Amino acid sequence: MEPSKEELLTQSQYRMLERLREAEERWRFALEGSGDGVWDWNLQSGETVLSKRWKEMIGYSEEEFDGQSGDWMAFIHPGDQDRVRDGLGKYLEGKIPQYIDEFRLSCKDGSLKWILARAMAVSRNIDGKPLRIIGTHSDITDRKRAEETIQRQAYYDELTQLPNRNLFRDRLQHEIKRMHRAGLKLALLFIDLDDFKQINDTLGHPAGDGLLAEAAQRISGCVRESDTVARFGGDVFAVILAGLDESDDVERVAQEINAGLTAPYRLGEENVVISASIGITLFPCDATDVDDLWKNADQAMYAAKNAGRGRFSFFTPAMQTAARARLRLINDMRLALENHQFEVYYQPIVNLSTGGIIKAEALIRWHHPERGMVSPVEFIPVAEDSGLIVAIGDFVLSQTARHLSRWRNQHDARLQISVNVSPVQFRTPGEPYAQIVSCLTEQGLPAESLSIEITEGLLLDTTSSISESLLQIRDAGVQVAIDDFGTGYSSLSYLRRFHIDYLKIDQSFVRNLASDPNDMAIAEAIIVMAQKLGLRVIAEGVETEAQRNLLAMAGCDYAQGYLFSRPVPANEFEALLMRG
Ligand code: C2E
Ligand code: CA
Ligand code: CA
Repeated sequence: MEPSKEELLTQSQYRMLERLREAEERWRFALEGSGDGVWDWNLQSGETVLSKRWKEMIGYSEEEFDGQSGDWMAFIHPGDQDRVRDGLGKYLEGKIPQYIDEFRLSCKDGSLKWILARAMAVSRNIDGKPLRIIGTHSDITDRKRAEETIQRQAYYDELTQLPNRNLFRDRLQHEIKRMHRAGLKLALLFIDLDDFKQINDTLGHPAGDGLLAEAAQRISGCVRESDTVARFGGDVFAVILAGLDESDDVERVAQEINAGLTAPYRLGEENVVISASIGITLFPCDATDVDDLWKNADQAMYAAKNAGRGRFSFFTPAMQTAARARLRLINDMRLALENHQFEVYYQPIVNLSTGGIIKAEALIRWHHPERGMVSPVEFIPVAEDSGLIVAIGDFVLSQTARHLSRWRNQHDARLQISVNVSPVQFRTPGEPYAQIVSCLTEQGLPAESLSIEITEGLLLDTTSSISESLLQIRDAGVQVAIDDFGTGYSSLSYLRRFHIDYLKIDQSFVRNLASDPNDMAIAEAIIVMAQKLGLRVIAEGVETEAQRNLLAMAGCDYAQGYLFSRPVPANEFEALLMRG
């Protein structure tokens, strides 16, 4: 059939069309060359042309894909389809000036690719309605993966895959708002594993990590799917129990978590048992904002720890008062160091066979400007917790060394003074050895003029840096006494291994020596055992003649207590030395 007149193109029309096609090809070529897939959607016919690269991107070859798919939408991840349709719709209606979106496409092999899609209407009818849209797909899977990793690292704990502190805070904020609107309660729990450091130190970090991962699962197993469990790093976990009403029993959940965590852990060849201390606070009864709830849970957890571990505590206002007092105490101790409010007192230690003073114990005293004398029983534990004990310990050592040097020169060259050294001071590798050696050298004192008093617990600590420090101190010739002996776990093999010199019988056994046959038996047993091991025994808290006589008869070497003298300032102790 002959073409009709209208259908015949004029020369110039024909040339124009040719140029347009060339232009379009070049343009498509340019788009393809960028590595992007191109799609071309004719809205009138509904036909979509997809470029070779477009198909390749999701794993298809040109042939195996019919290309006719107006239903290319089907390749979009179901979770993204509504959004994509909505976005395109808005663009077609002219509500947004350009179309750009990110979504996932399903590949032939079942994997997903992240796509950045851009589109533009290339022809419109007289009303401005698009007739044809051309768009590109760029593969942004790598970028998305990187973003996801960064996101995970910023918000999740790598070891347990639980939310981290940052994400937990966001969730708490969110849950508080939600509970406020719904008129419901939530509970915030902070969970701290007790003595976890020991596991890391004795069994190694991989075993410690194994325990933490298992603990995370056990905690998650005790709460509902909708509750949030997080790890704050280290051995601290946190839980939000949201949507509570009167019938919900937070206490029961806390008990279950505690029971769950205390069941034995199988770590390689070892069976390990651990306990946890849990602090609980409630919204809205205890507090209504994130910061206050956070502080409350922390204080309650601290209270649970102090109450003996392996238990949970609900926040009470009294804890807040205690926490404030604690903070004030820490602050005051800092000032005390700067303003020389600390002083070292000395309590004579008497040789029970001769009655002479050849030893003394250095005991710190704090002259508080407002509170007067503050007992070390009150401030030493807080100084240990806050780390201030290191500075305080340094002060006691250097002060003692100065006095000791003078007294040995002027009064008695055999005088030995013992200084209490806290386990916390041993936590820095090489300490307190370095400090001890420097004090001794500074004052030109021989090592045997000093003795340190440590607790039984320190001997049992298997951290290698701690036993190394202790052995270094021993090898240097400084003597070692076990303080409060009989109150902790004792192990004879450790007494041997570290060549301990003295056992100090705890005051609690000395107090009732005369009246309680059991205490007398314990004191006697300690003395006999010490003699067999070649150790000397010092009895503490001797207040009466009766106690002194019983101890002397049992073969105790030394005694210390109010019967002989209270701890006294340096000048008074010097006077005692002069009297002999
Ligand atoms: P501790 O090492 O067991 O010291 C013995 C405590 O018993 C001292 O209490 C002492 O004053 C007291 N005491 C001595 N004789 C008697 C007695 O006959 N009867 C009674 N009832 N008590 C007696 P203080 O000085 O209040 O020290 C308490 C604790 O504070 C010490 O117990 C020690 O654990 C710690 N501490 C004291 N000074 C230091 C120090 O410089 N560094 C460290 N890390 N801890 C220290
Ligand atoms: Ca002591
Ligand atoms: Ca003691």
